[in-house]
Amino acid sequence: MPLPRIVAALLTATVVTASPALATDELPDLGEAARAELSPQLERRIGERILNEIRLREPSYVDDPELSDYLNHLGGRLVAASANPTADCYFFLIRDSTVNAFAMFGGFIGVNTGTLLTAQSESELAAVLAHEISHVLQSHLARQIQREKQSSVATMIAMAVGVLAARSNSQVATAAIASAQAGSIQAQLAYSRDFEREADRVGFQTLSQAGFDVRGMADFFGRLQQAGRVYENSAPVYMRSHPLTVERMSDMQNRAQSAPYRQVAGSLDFHLVRAKLRAQMGTPQEGISEFGRQLREKKYASEVAVRYGLSYSLLRAKDVAGAQREFDALAALKPSSPLLAGLAAAIRIADNDPGGAAAIYRDALQRYPQSTALTYGYAEALLTAKQYEQARLFLDAQLQLHTSDYKLHGLSARTFSATGKRLQQHRAQAEFYLLQGQLGPAVEQLQFAQQAGDGSFFEQSAVDARLRELRRLQVEEAKQKRTGL
Ligand SMILES: [Zn+2]
Repeated sequence: MPLPRIVAALLTATVVTASPALATDELPDLGEAARAELSPQLERRIGERILNEIRLREPSYVDDPELSDYLNHLGGRLVAASANPTADCYFFLIRDSTVNAFAMFGGFIGVNTGTLLTAQSESELAAVLAHEISHVLQSHLARQIQREKQSSVATMIAMAVGVLAARSNSQVATAAIASAQAGSIQAQLAYSRDFEREADRVGFQTLSQAGFDVRGMADFFGRLQQAGRVYENSAPVYMRSHPLTVERMSDMQNRAQSAPYRQVAGSLDFHLVRAKLRAQMGTPQEGISEFGRQLREKKYASEVAVRYGLSYSLLRAKDVAGAQREFDALAALKPSSPLLAGLAAAIRIADNDPGGAAAIYRDALQRYPQSTALTYGYAEALLTAKQYEQARLFLDAQLQLHTSDYKLHGLSARTFSATGKRLQQHRAQAEFYLLQGQLGPAVEQLQFAQQAGDGSFFEQSAVDARLRELRRLQVEEAKQKRTGL
């Protein structure tokens, strides 16, 4: 069962600390999940709600657009090569050194950073994602619930969301996960062998179709198995939810052997993302000496990535000149990646040159117009450089394309705030909250917008209409809560 580990852990946390304060009426309305069949729309809503809670309350959630862009690009490539190329899948990262990946309701797939660092090639990482995508495409979660003909999993998810909402103390979760109880819940939530076999088979086809090295799957799972034997605690989370049997391993190996040999070079971004994750671990000084050593000993898969990691670590250590120097050495190798543009711009910002950073982002966006990291970075740089009119025009154009991107609305609110446009500021802030599932704060912002008194008649009417709409939603939610529907 791909129930997110953090959710499972928080669920355990209530079992352990059994707080009487957590009354039933505090639980979110997911009552219908417990009895009705799960429609795709309902699955999506549950998934969105859990992800919103994770984003808001889980400190290990990785809010890094560069890492998220990479993971979604890789995942998107796999989905496009799958049997259902238009399927909705969204990938997010959890900062945790253990290997884990989990598919939630609605195509939301969480991946631990430990998985990226353990994978020895991009094909190995792609194999893990392809396996999770297959669990989503085959609706294994919903089928498992229906097969068991009981509502326990849905009830557990509802409870887990409530727990996540009720507490933000992840220490409790971390402690709980180490307990035996976390283990028993995980074991209880394991996928059936049939589903594992199916995810392996479908995942293998996807991996092959997408042009990756199909040996990645057997290689990665083999390494996990080894790790599980040697270190008691390094791999078991993933192994428990996706039981790895001798039969599964030999199936994977047989499939890989009968496939034509294919040498696949990992993308530069794969190496850069790993270098960034490494550089963020420990102290900046540790990063500087580790990347410096790799460079001296010439022990690396990608020189650009090692120099990137060194420059990033120097920047973390506030050695701006050193970071720039290492970046220039890297740039001489003529690599191209949105992550490199991001670092170059971050160095400019640290050097009090936001205008220079904005210019770097603008150029990079020509090459990588889809990059959300560059998009946010450009808007931020314009704001820091006090180029408010530019920022507003840019954000307006972006919002036309990506209406439901809460970060764009947040940046928009900051732009209006900086130029003293109060109605517009609160209106944008309302959308920022609403898109993260926070209806109450959204309504409050619209009330502020109503009182701002600096809007045109047209803007004022738009605020009134939006407020009426959200209030209707509030009434509906309250009704649902009462009737449990
Ligand atoms: Zn699995």
